[in-house]
Amino acid sequence: MEIRSFYPQPRLLMGPGPSDVSDRVLSALSRPTIGHLDPDFIFLMDEIKLLLQYAFQTDNALTLPVSAPGSAGMETVFVNLIEPGDKVVVCRNGAFGERMRENVVRCGGHAVMVDSKWGEAVQLDQLERALDDNPDAVAVAAVHAETSTGVCSDVQAIATLADKHNCLSIIDAVTSLGGIPVKVDEWGIDAIYSGTQKCLSCVPGLSPVSFNDKAVQRITARKHPVQSWFLDLNLVIGYWGKGSQTGGKRSYHHTAPVNNLYALHESLLMLKEETLSASWQRHQLNHQALKAGIECLGLSFAVSADVRLPQLNTINVPEGVNEAQLRQQLLNDWQIEIGAGLGDLAGKVWRIGLMGHSASQPKVLTLISALAACLVAQGGSVDSLAAVKSATKVYESAGN
Ligand SMILES: *Cc1c(COP(=O)(O)O)cnc(C)c1O
Repeated sequence: MEIRSFYPQPRLLMGPGPSDVSDRVLSALSRPTIGHLDPDFIFLMDEIKLLLQYAFQTDNALTLPVSAPGSAGMETVFVNLIEPGDKVVVCRNGAFGERMRENVVRCGGHAVMVDSKWGEAVQLDQLERALDDNPDAVAVAAVHAETSTGVCSDVQAIATLADKHNCLSIIDAVTSLGGIPVKVDEWGIDAIYSGTQKCLSCVPGLSPVSFNDKAVQRITARKHPVQSWFLDLNLVIGYWGKGSQTGGKRSYHHTAPVNNLYALHESLLMLKEETLSASWQRHQLNHQALKAGIECLGLSFAVSADVRLPQLNTINVPEGVNEAQLRQQLLNDWQIEIGAGLGDLAGKVWRIGLMGHSASQPKVLTLISALAACLVAQGGSVDSLAAVKSATKVYESAGN
């Protein structure tokens, strides 16, 4: 067998991540690799930090991209903040809440679960009861945007409740950052992690995290060393923490993924140029257009409107339609990727991501046409033109 260079077919990425990466970000990725302690690179790191502070809406000094995907950001937060014996209240309303529980347990902590049904938001009264019943809890963990279900939880209220009960708040913002408001300082979030390949539309492989002073105090006051060498922030701070503004020197910890960081810098710069509020609005507008189109095709949402994420649309598979076959046809005939359901929702829903650069008018209109064609191929009778027209109307009324 002869092995050749790999050239992937360009796809439209409209699933739960990764999302479409712009040419600007891809071209940043291909710039010359330089040393990770090169003064020019140190300058870039300082700018990335500033741009991340903007994206997270925070002044937290400990704001940096972990050199690994979102799951490593999750792990960074838990291994640094949780010590053996710590009690943590974990809100679980989907797959990623369950992963938070796993992290707590693997850190030797005790997880008190606040469970909601898949497809529902975290119930605040339930959380408050759990906090009243567990006055010795040290932290509350919750997912802002549950990508497994397409549900948004009120993490501002969750952080407020945590604070009221002397707990740190730990928030998963992997799918929310850039797509819907995330205001770390204003909402009083103590520790947060995200990912690059969802609404930031960067390549996968990095995880922005941010910790406020309260969280940092907890890390520096630990009784046990962090069991992960790579993710121990006490060590990472030596590399990321000392900015050129402070005149401090950075020391070697690990070789940063230099080119990935060029890409992150470019994608965050694009977000800053667009502005956060315009990005949030764009995600909302594309969601409304998609909604108009798919409802015209007779499809419905699996999640109630008040907790729906604009960037992750969970759509019920209609009776008589083969879920996997439709996804396969979208990929083969249209080069469009959408997501399948997870857990209890497997086989019952599709997950359509409108994240970052995938949240755009031509892509949404293409998807609606493609969905219509695939439904017709399975014997459905839908009006493709009417669906595109109703989506187009949403854009027109927004002045696009
Ligand atoms: C995607 C995702 C993660 C994991 O991120 P990876 O980059 O895949 O490791 C964690 N939490 C949520 C809510 C996600 O959507």
